[in-house]
Amino acid sequence: MRRTLIAGNWKMNGSFAANRSLLSEIKAGLPVSLQCDVLVCPPAPYFAQCAEMLGGTAVSWGAQDVSVHVHGAYTGEISASMLQDCACKYAIVGHSERRAYHAETNELVAHKAQQLLKHGVLPIVCVGETLEQRESGQTNAVVAAQLNAVLDVLDSLDGLVIAYEPVWAIGTGKTATPEMAQEVHHFLRQQVAVRDAGVAEKVQILYGGSMKPENAKELLAMPDIDGGLIGGAALKSQDFLVIIAAS
Ligand code: 13P
Repeated sequence: MRRTLIAGNWKMNGSFAANRSLLSEIKAGLPVSLQCDVLVCPPAPYFAQCAEMLGGTAVSWGAQDVSVHVHGAYTGEISASMLQDCACKYAIVGHSERRAYHAETNELVAHKAQQLLKHGVLPIVCVGETLEQRESGQTNAVVAAQLNAVLDVLDSLDGLVIAYEPVWAIGTGKTATPEMAQEVHHFLRQQVAVRDAGVAEKVQILYGGSMKPENAKELLAMPDIDGGLIGGAALKSQDFLVIIAAS
């Protein structure tokens, strides 16, 4: 059985004061016998605050991106070894906002995932189609190209996490139906199985895109949906806790 991972992507939100409230409320509201893994991905300036507040708890913290470079003259970038130093357990790569606003290609995302695994940080690789791509029947081709670019460069797929985030469902309130999401998750698992059937059985595939208390249970009940990557609802402790309880 795969463990469920409930991950919050805070995007560019938060402050020391707001994070303190949010993290305190999450810690206080966690079920006593927590059944899933819980992760928050704040902006990098708040890793130390997470370490202070979450160290020794069941909640991990992670990054929203990483540099493809190892070290050197790359102003503004943060390397995988720095994330490791900050005890980030995971890092998101290839989020559609980075693909769209920072022109990240499938190959760049793949090399970022490679850097992370080299430094013991687990990559959460995001894939997903736009509305136009879905409506023109390209969903599988798009997500396969995004995922296969990553599978092509990794020596070992151990530790890889995949997040299916249909672009049209992010921050829009529109969610893929559980059946629509399941279909793509199953397809993604098959893509992994072509490389390594054992890894395909255990790789966690998260759903992201307007996951909220009202739809989390149905989505998480699907056989190939192993967790959530949650944006807006991860900034509200009550909503995030309801999603954790639904897993
Ligand atoms: P929302 O949950 O706000 O739609 O964002 C999803 C997302 O982009 C998580 O990475």
